Amino acid sequence: MEQEQERDVIIVGAGPAGATTATILAQHGHDVLMLDRFDFPRDKACGDAIPAGAIELMARLGMAEKVNQAVQRGEFYPLDSIRIYSPKGNMLQARLKEGAEGGRSYVAPRMYFDAVIQKQAEESGAEFKRALVKAPWIEDGRVVGVQAQFNGDVKNIRSKIVVGADGVTSAITRTLRPKEMQHVDSHRAVALRAYIHDIEEYPHEVEFYLYDEILPGYAWVFPAGKNLANIGLGMRLDVFRKENYNLKQMLQNFLELPTIKKRLLRGGEIENIRTWQLNFGSQKQLQHTYDGALLVGDAAGFINPLTGGGIHNAMISAQMAGKTIDDALQKGDTSRESIKIYEKRIHQAMWKNMRRSYFIQRWVLRFPSIADIFFSYAAEDGILAKTFLEKL
Ligand SMILES: Cc1cc2nc3c(=O)[nH]c(=O)nc-3n(C[C@H](O)[C@H](O)[C@H](O)COP(=O)(O)OP(=O)(O)OC[C@H]3O[C@@H](n4cnc5c(N)ncnc54)[C@H](O)[C@@H]3O)c2cc1C
Repeated sequence: MEQEQERDVIIVGAGPAGATTATILAQHGHDVLMLDRFDFPRDKACGDAIPAGAIELMARLGMAEKVNQAVQRGEFYPLDSIRIYSPKGNMLQARLKEGAEGGRSYVAPRMYFDAVIQKQAEESGAEFKRALVKAPWIEDGRVVGVQAQFNGDVKNIRSKIVVGADGVTSAITRTLRPKEMQHVDSHRAVALRAYIHDIEEYPHEVEFYLYDEILPGYAWVFPAGKNLANIGLGMRLDVFRKENYNLKQMLQNFLELPTIKKRLLRGGEIENIRTWQLNFGSQKQLQHTYDGALLVGDAAGFINPLTGGGIHNAMISAQMAGKTIDDALQKGDTSRESIKIYEKRIHQAMWKNMRRSYFIQRWVLRFPSIADIFFSYAAEDGILAKTFLEKL
């Protein structure tokens, strides 16, 4: 098996978590190799809703102009408000506020959104290669690099630290996280996303629908401009399995709802249907650091259990990983002992919000009648609207 020179950092996966970590570490002068099984731009199953906090983080890393250009080209569609429908059809509408630093929220298809950050990482000095990572390379119980397939050739590449940013099906997490600590179905979801080309949208407004069949979960219509919308639905995996549901059938049922059907201009031309899984950040005792390795984004499992939003959290985790790894490389120590402060930082930043969101999802939104009562007390500045607004 061929071997290459040792790198400071290998980042597996160049989605928002991986590319943000790569940007930060390259900007700090480290030698970063980013590997992804796809070239960019590439699609990813997602609702494409990007909260203002993520856009502000991009601006801090020098991407403000790239975002502006994407908006000018019509690739990022700006949002003003959200509406959430209860099982009985009551509607809660709330205006999206600008972020603390003036950022806006957008619907940005991942084809465009991810490419902006991946490009920024390369321009900051990270090297990108297309490769399918098979597993972390482990010697004496410590991660010392990765085993990856480049165009059919399998190579071992050594690094001081490996970042697992390879999403929900992470090869890094699967190998490193003990079986009993992996996600259980009650902290996971399945979701389907498609694009619809002939829907009369509510301009600049994202729509969430909570109804009997979909709870605990929701269906969405996220406008992308010119009668184009990202449309989809998702629900908790344990309930989905128990009810023996079928996501494509559920999408058809959603399109048949009168409030949707009347807005389809030519009968609902759907394309690019994709299904994928989500791992919530509400499961206790998840280990994110190992000797020589650390997990970020969906590979760690940082999705909000109420909204299904994970992009902003992926980028927050990247920011914390960047700081932790920079410190560890300067100290010359990438053992778990040296980097486990990352877990503390993540806990402080996310845990309270994750548990609160899980509580609402599990105990309030599981049952349509309770959801309706909760809804009748929900206010524009209340906890439900706020969570959806912040973690879209
Ligand atoms: C249907 C659906 C709708 C969603 N809607 C929203 C939404 O509207 N807003 C929101 O904020 N979040 C949403 N999410 C969650 C969001 O998609 C994720 O939280 C986000 O993509 C996490 O980013 P990431 O970088 O951690 O992982 P990913 O975006 O999954 O990136 C992982 C990268 O790793 C690469 N990779 C994987 N395995 C390997 C391997 N073995 N070797 C090399 N490369 C590999 C992949 O090609 C990919 O580029 C949704 C999720 C789903 C499934």
